[in-house]
Formats: sequence, C-alpha cells, structure tokens
Amino acid sequence: MDTLDGFALDKLAGLDRARTRRRMVDTFRDGPTTARRDGRQMISFCCNDYLNLTHHPAVIEAAVAATRQYGAGSGASRLVTGNHPLYRTLEAKLAALKGTEDALVFGSGYLANVSITPALVGRGDLVLIDELAHACLFTGARLSGASVRRFAHNDTDDAGRILAQERASHGKCMLLTDHVFSMDGDIAPISELAELCSSHDTWLLADDAHGIGMLPIPAGATVPLQMGTLSKALGSYGGYLCASAPVIDLLRSRARALVYTTGLPPASVAAAIAALDLIAADPAWAASPIAKARRFTAALGLPPAASPIVPLIVGDAATALAQSERLADAGFLVTAIRPPTVPEGTARLRFTFTASHADAEIDALATAVGRLGA
Ligand SMILES: *Cc1c(COP(=O)(O)O)cnc(C)c1O
Repeated sequence: MDTLDGFALDKLAGLDRARTRRRMVDTFRDGPTTARRDGRQMISFCCNDYLNLTHHPAVIEAAVAATRQYGAGSGASRLVTGNHPLYRTLEAKLAALKGTEDALVFGSGYLANVSITPALVGRGDLVLIDELAHACLFTGARLSGASVRRFAHNDTDDAGRILAQERASHGKCMLLTDHVFSMDGDIAPISELAELCSSHDTWLLADDAHGIGMLPIPAGATVPLQMGTLSKALGSYGGYLCASAPVIDLLRSRARALVYTTGLPPASVAAAIAALDLIAADPAWAASPIAKARRFTAALGLPPAASPIVPLIVGDAATALAQSERLADAGFLVTAIRPPTVPEGTARLRFTFTASHADAEIDALATAVGRLGA
C-alpha cells in the first residue's frame, strides 16, 4: 500500500480506538437556536452565537448590502488591495469598545493568535500560558521560539512563582490567558494577573473570544493586548487585537498571518459592524445568555454558571459520545468535547446558552440531562 495512505489509515485506526476521531455532519441552522441534521430537527445548545446575531435581520442585511457594494471577496491582502473602507469603521468601533488607541482586524481569532505572540517575542524571551488556554494561544507561543512555561489554571500564585524564578534570565516576557475559558466557562483572574504582570515587566494578553459582547474585562485592569473574535457573540467571522497605536502599527508590518493572507470578505466586516451597533444599543442584552445558563445550572444543582458556557465533565470520550447521542435522541444538540481539545480524562458535554433559548427549552434540557446518570 502507498505509505502516505498507510500512514493516514494507521493514525485513523488509533483515533477510532481512543474514540477521538472527528466527523463533520451537515448541519442546517434554520433559525437562531435550531439545527437540523440527518432530517432531525433539534434545539442546539452548542453554538457560540450567544446573542443569535448570525440570524439577526440587520446583520444579514448589512452583509448582503456590503457584498453588493464591495464584492464577494476582498481580492488580496489588506496591504495590497484588500483593505476595503469597512475595515476602518470596524477597527474604530473595536478600539472604542475596548478603550484602546487602535485595533487591527485579522482573518480569524486563530490567525490573530498565531501572529501576535511571534511578532512581539522570540528566542531568549519567556511566555507564560494558562494550562487550559485555547489551542491557538499555545500555537502562537510555540511559533515564537520563546521559552514557554504553563502555569496552573487560573492560579496567579503559580504564575508568580514561575516569574520569580525565570523572569530575570529572559529578555521580554508575555503572559497569555483566555478571559472566559472556552471549554470550561470559568473566568480568569484578570485584575490579579494584570497586577502580577505590571510588577514583573510582563505583557499581558487576554483572549476575549467568549467575552466580547458578553462580559467586560474588569475596569481598572491594565491589559495591553486584548484580542478576540468576531465569530462568537458578534455572529460574523474574523479576529481582532485592540492595543496601543505603536503596537498595532508594528503588527500591521510584522503579523505574518495578516500580511500574507487575503483580507476578509466585505460581508464579514459589515456584519460585525452591524452586530457591534446592535449590542451598543442595548447593553442589558448581554446579561441574557448568562441568566439562561444559570437557570440550567440551578435546575441541576450545579454551581452557578459564570458565563454562557457550562461544562459537564463525564471523563472518558466514549461516555461523552454516548450521552451526546442520547441527548440528540431527546431533541437536543450538545456536542461531546474530547481530548486533545480538553485534557485526557476530562471529556465532557459542553452546553452554551443564547438569548433566544426559551426557558421551557432549558428546563426540558435539564430534565433530559438529569436522566443521563440513571
Ligand atoms: C474560538 C476561539 C478562538 C479562535 O477564534 P476564531 O475566530 O474562531 O478563529 C481563539 N481563542 C479562543 C479562546 C476561542 O474560543
């Protein structure tokens, strides 16, 4: 057999044995909270579309209008001819929202994170990273060539110990963390980390992918690097960094995944602008998904949700898959999250709640989840 195919088949057999092989399923998102798969209509509790903006008429209309005016694609890198004028509007709104001098929009949150860290630190420098931070923060840290040290999840003391031991023997230093952790739904101690970073000449990067539009970074915390995504609460696609004018200017020249990739389609940028306007017009809206998540945690006697993300850790991948399938049979789409997305032995069901979920749907979900243990 061809050795390339042989290699792939061998790897796939290993993934099958560990129950960690991934499959893509055609999914029709017919409405804000519904999903249709294999002809089965389900209520989805696994979308990051917290405010249901992917299906908001004003957001859709903005995308359509931008496509008509500017075309379906941007045609080139932003540094060539891909920098259509919508970018300027979006970046100004993001900088205003985050209280920074400037902002830079990337092709995705992933592309932002694989570019930002390598543009700022390298060999001889130090990167501290929360052990449960998002995969793309790890990728950026490794690509930078700096020494990478993980600290215990949300443990400022552990980060402090590493800094006390290692900071002096390195040049520059960055600390990377999620703000809202994507697979756990808990919140980083941003104010404490910001203080620690100030006292150790360390640059703090907070990944706000699940925070923007939902949970603000604590006022008063100095976070010089605030990145995030346009693809979750904002319902569109793309990533961003909000920072000082000099940092953003440097990244315009040195972020490889910005320089060497095509600009976003105008539709994505216009949709994100419309989403930010909707969120700004109704600040109370952002509280709704968390309130829904708390209804669910209360119904099951779990600790109150800290964000719209609620994990239910079941342990092994096979059990998580079986429970996800049982929930699908009951009409609920809840994806099983397995290693290596989460650490070995912590496979889980991950529930996300959105503004449009009806209370009765949440109660029915809680009842179905309560029966899983039986
Ligand atoms: C989703 C996510 C990203 C990646 O953002 P995309 O725009 O989807 O590429 C980065 N960081 C965290 C914490 C995320 O949850």
